Amino acid sequence: MPFSHDMVYSLATVVDLVNTGAGERDGLAEVADLAEFVGRREVSGVRTLTRRDLAEVRALREAFHAVFTAPDQATAVSVLNTLLGRTRITPSLTEHDGHPLHVHYFAPDASVAEHLAADCGVALAHVLVENERERLRTCAAPDCSHVFVDESRNRSRVYCDSRTCGNRMHVAAYRARARSRDAS
Ligand SMILES: [Zn+2]
Ligand SMILES: [Zn+2]
Repeated sequence: MPFSHDMVYSLATVVDLVNTGAGERDGLAEVADLAEFVGRREVSGVRTLTRRDLAEVRALREAFHAVFTAPDQATAVSVLNTLLGRTRITPSLTEHDGHPLHVHYFAPDASVAEHLAADCGVALAHVLVENERERLRTCAAPDCSHVFVDESRNRSRVYCDSRTCGNRMHVAAYRARARSRDAS
């Protein structure tokens, strides 16, 4: 795994956020969905959530999706710089909730969107700086648009999930091979 633990956590959060927009049902349709997301990702220091928070996080989701699907490094840098440029960032070292010492980047009074923009934005910035943009991928299954971060050593992962999409695609390939054998 080429990234530090907090970075892996922030990257998992940004993947989860972007993928709320990739299912049949929008995973951030209601404020209750946002509350569920905040709980699932253990986003700390979140106040009462409002429709405004929901709108802001949904807009942020679009910006992060654009980083994952950027055609080249320059586009990814530009999208991320726009996002970081309008985000208040206040680094501080913390050890909350039994987690080892790590850096938070969001301002102390940050809204949930500002919190996610700062922490996930900085994590993505490190990915670009380390020249690892090709690890930011979209699933290769034709019927799936989930994004993922390829943390494999040889950057060989192509499916968002080997048990679901990977397995389904392998079964499909096997059947196609069996059919072409039968036809010959
Ligand atoms: Zn933390
Ligand atoms: Zn997939």
